[in-house]
Amino acid sequence: MSSKNIKRRLTYVIYCLVGFFAIPFILTLYNVSYNLTTVLLHIVILLLVFYTLYQYRNLDNMYEINQKYNENRQKLLLRENELNSLFDNNNAYLWTIDFAEKTFLPSQGFEQVYGFSRDEFMANYELWKDRVIPEDLHIAEEHYAKLKSGLPSNRSFRFRNSAEEIRWLDAWGKPIFNEKKKVTHLTGVAYDITERKELEEKLYHNATHDYLTGLPNRKKLMLYMEEEIKKCEKTNQSLAVLFLDLDRFKFVNDSFGHNTGDRLLVQIGERLQAFIGDKGMVSRHGGDEFIIIIRYRAYKQFIDLVNGIINTFRTPYDLKIENSVISASIGISMYPKDDTTIEGLIGQADRAMYRAKSQGKNTYRFANPVLEEAEIRRNNVEQQLKKAMQLNEFEVHYQPIVNLKTGHIFETEALIRWKNPHLGMVMPLEFIPLAEDQGIMSDIGLWVIDQATKQTKDWQSKGMDIRLSVNVSNIQFEDPLFSRKISTILSKNQFKAERLTIEITESVLQNTEKASKTIHHLRNMGVEIAIDDFGTGYSSLSVINSLPIDTIKIDKSFISTLAENKHNAQLVQTIIGLGDTLNCKIVAEGIETQEQVDFLDELGCLYGQGYLYSRPESSDDIEKRIMEQSA
Ligand code: C2E
Ligand code: MG
Ligand code: MG
Repeated sequence: MSSKNIKRRLTYVIYCLVGFFAIPFILTLYNVSYNLTTVLLHIVILLLVFYTLYQYRNLDNMYEINQKYNENRQKLLLRENELNSLFDNNNAYLWTIDFAEKTFLPSQGFEQVYGFSRDEFMANYELWKDRVIPEDLHIAEEHYAKLKSGLPSNRSFRFRNSAEEIRWLDAWGKPIFNEKKKVTHLTGVAYDITERKELEEKLYHNATHDYLTGLPNRKKLMLYMEEEIKKCEKTNQSLAVLFLDLDRFKFVNDSFGHNTGDRLLVQIGERLQAFIGDKGMVSRHGGDEFIIIIRYRAYKQFIDLVNGIINTFRTPYDLKIENSVISASIGISMYPKDDTTIEGLIGQADRAMYRAKSQGKNTYRFANPVLEEAEIRRNNVEQQLKKAMQLNEFEVHYQPIVNLKTGHIFETEALIRWKNPHLGMVMPLEFIPLAEDQGIMSDIGLWVIDQATKQTKDWQSKGMDIRLSVNVSNIQFEDPLFSRKISTILSKNQFKAERLTIEITESVLQNTEKASKTIHHLRNMGVEIAIDDFGTGYSSLSVINSLPIDTIKIDKSFISTLAENKHNAQLVQTIIGLGDTLNCKIVAEGIETQEQVDFLDELGCLYGQGYLYSRPESSDDIEKRIMEQSA
């Protein structure tokens, strides 16, 4: 009990005593005798005094309660003001969703965060979702669903404010249940954390990028490679790691100072970045080393890109010094061929880069020697091919096509060969794709046809009854002037069109309209059409049926496995049946054994070619063979 209360209580006691002793005094004053009634009255007054004292005790409690109430009320008001100032500032607000009323009740701060008045949103408790950006909507929905399911939740997502700026919101929420444990309300607090996010991003950027060039640094490179390797695993793509080191950078630093060196690094970074763009990532590994990561599908495109990188170094730099050209040596490793770990791949590329340096600089080398050899050869073939026509290095060889029952040669297939003093004999499958890329395949193809018709005409004039079959590449066949060019060659060499077959591949037929036009032109001239390597492409039966095809050549892959692969035997039988239906000659390619001949004979195949009869040989050798059979 407080001293204030004791004092007050003493005052009450004094008042009561004064009252108690005042009674006999008043009675005497009015001459009333002190009898039983007055004594009883006095006792009642005494009891009343005690009762009053007892009541005062309770009143004291009441007073305290009142006092406490007032204090608490003050405190609450203070709290409320505090809360309001906490959440009703410009980056946070409190909110409640009432499912029964279907209302969303945000505190004042909502208006600052969103830039919208609360009224519109208060009427529609799901309207806030409309402002969430589509990419993050799933996060907001997960958050909302979790709360609705009765669990607390905290998620961050982006939204568009009234000025259509994209901002970050950190939303915290809690469900409120009724007595039946059903969620009736959601309540929470939301903070605009855009500034914090921007700061985090800035810090992350600084930690993962090189201060000088602004390119991703080693740390970012590791993270990026990890991601890319995962993507490669899923998509079956390859990943190339290019370790690039500038040639003679030390000379630039020593002769022109480190500032110039720095400016050069910045410009190189910019160039590489512009060249690679979104095809991969350029990072600075340190010093004058850069690492480029590229995910690729087509090897050829990748090599073009590498050559492109080498070329980006050819133009001088803006350094205000004379002859500011610098080159780079590049080492290349491949995932998953060379290594499957990040460190392993970088190490391999690094070592390959040293080889590029020691083997002349300004070039690239592969970590994988086999790939590298293939690449060197490919480069050489490409270089030599450009001059092959001029230097007369091509030859035509001929392979007999025979009647399987009699072994009689009735036709030969012209097959190109390239004899180069540096490369030796180069087979068509190796150089034809490159010739196509260089745009010279049409000319080479026409040269073969010219040569082969001349040769066959010569044999015909010597009395040999022989036809000629020539191959044409897709590019050649798609030339709109193709049939006219053939016509010119035929009349120049006085070669009868009926004695010529042109072999096309199934893929040509995919461009049905174009192919059909050329095929009809050729057929009108009298030239026969064969489909080569049949069974390896995707020609549809309806297309074949609609075109005037004279011969179908069954690809050698079916013939080589005839005996052991039942499925192939059935396929060959079907193709032979197709030939009957379409009235086409069927020629089996790649016959190497008598067993295959017997098998084909059984299936009803009449014609074939293959090593069993003869390999493709020079015109002189083939001439001897044909002569032998005429004799
Ligand atoms: P293709 O037209 O299917 O020619 C048959 C290929 O099979 C030839 O290869 C031939 O040497 C080979 N071959 C023949 N019999 C057998 C055998 O019994 N076993 C095996 N394993 N192979 C056999 P080659 O001469 O290397 O030609 C490859 C391809 O290059 C040709 O396939 C053809 O598509 C293309 N080609 C050849 N010469 C020319 C040409 O002058 N112009 C065009 N556009 N393409 C040509
Ligand atoms: Mg052929
Ligand atoms: Mg073939």
